[in-house]
Amino acid sequence: MPVLNRFLSSEFGRRLKVSEELLPTSVWTLSTYQQRTFTLELPELIKLVKLLWKSKHNLQGPKRRGVFENEDALSNIPGDGRVRGPTGVLSERRGSFPFIDFRLLNTTAHSGEIGTKKKVKRLLSFQRYFHASRLLRGIIPQTSLHLLDEDYLGQAAHMLSKVGTWNFDIFLFDRLTNGNSLVTLLCHLFNSHGLIHHFQLDMVKLYRFLVMVQEDYHSQNPYHNAVHAADVTQAMHCYLKEPKLSRYLTPLDIFLGLMAAAAHDVDHPGVNQPFLIKTKHHLASLYQNVSVLENHHWRSTVGMLRESGLLSHLPTETTQDIEQQLGSLILATDISRQNEFLGHFKSHLDSNDLSLEDAEHRHFMLQIALKCADICNPCRVWEMSKQWSERVCEEFYRQGDLESKFDLEVSPLCNQQIDTIPGIQIGFMTYIVEPLFEEWSRFTDNSALSEVMMSHLRKNKARWRHLRHKQHHREEDSSSLSLNEGVEGGGP
Ligand SMILES: [Zn+2]
Repeated sequence: MPVLNRFLSSEFGRRLKVSEELLPTSVWTLSTYQQRTFTLELPELIKLVKLLWKSKHNLQGPKRRGVFENEDALSNIPGDGRVRGPTGVLSERRGSFPFIDFRLLNTTAHSGEIGTKKKVKRLLSFQRYFHASRLLRGIIPQTSLHLLDEDYLGQAAHMLSKVGTWNFDIFLFDRLTNGNSLVTLLCHLFNSHGLIHHFQLDMVKLYRFLVMVQEDYHSQNPYHNAVHAADVTQAMHCYLKEPKLSRYLTPLDIFLGLMAAAAHDVDHPGVNQPFLIKTKHHLASLYQNVSVLENHHWRSTVGMLRESGLLSHLPTETTQDIEQQLGSLILATDISRQNEFLGHFKSHLDSNDLSLEDAEHRHFMLQIALKCADICNPCRVWEMSKQWSERVCEEFYRQGDLESKFDLEVSPLCNQQIDTIPGIQIGFMTYIVEPLFEEWSRFTDNSALSEVMMSHLRKNKARWRHLRHKQHHREEDSSSLSLNEGVEGGGP
């Protein structure tokens, strides 16, 4: 995995070590707490993390100095014109930023050598790109790191006390946490599940890792952004508490479930796999057109795990196992594999042969739980469900606009003129969501949560049907109106 090897660059490791040594003892002694049992309440946790950030920030000196240091660091990295602003500072640091080289579309089979060279160049560029992105983190003062506004601290903490309830409003939570819903939620869940203590995690490394993950989501994506990741993580937390599952889960299972949920769409470019393939995106070449996005989410997560050193104190076999299991969980979210997983799930339930003492069976149920969490939007209360629906359709339409702009065939569901939001949602609920959640309900023996979710699902579908009906009527009315106007206008 050459791309990942680059993350282990000695330069980056050294820099982190120096900055850690410089941290004031009042903060740095956090890691020493891990030798003992401790419970860190959220407000204390947030205060400590804020204190840490402030102290680190002060150590870096004036803001401008930080920027110039970046430029110095960048001057040693082979350039990639498309990502540099006029000052030489990277304006876009994403690994998968969907820069589409439309010249590649015209590459014919006869110009194979040139095409191959270009592909290799793009792959190398990807590595360089990623390396630069990692190298920069920790140098740039990141304004978004302010965790919680004092005024909102109480409200956010109050919300977290009800994090296990299904009507948890992740949009409100994101506003209250100043756009840091993912970091704040994960810090809280890791603490409340006892994972920090169990895995002897270093709070500073955990925080660093979570910020990396959150920042690698693209906030400009209407749907596939860090709030979606936080929403999936909150749903996953609810599913992990299901009595049928929870009594068998080990700390490692919970760790994997929450981590996979948080990182399952990291660095999502806001377009789908067919788009990446038809535009000859470097990620499609890198992963040979198979689960392109999911592979990228997984490999990016592994890269960040290694770079943050979060698990560096654990035995190699354990970290390798964690990395592999995270991959298997994240790859399960590939929607094109829906029927494969649904078939296995059904046959397990039909033959009643799931034995959750068995680690393999627990892993399978974590895959299913993550898949449910990923597509649970239609099972939420209408106000939230509707917002997610509008967001995902907006992302589809943006892809469609991009496709038509470059004379590419517009992908299914991406044509705003044909594919309406109610139509898309009803199809999604009927063919993807309902079949999976019916089986999930069966697995949970129709738990209270399953009942609530199925009830929302039915009501939401009825509302979309009603809206579609109204939309048809409006269209019919307007077409008959324009016909009448045409007749009147065309009259003698
Ligand atoms: Zn997702």
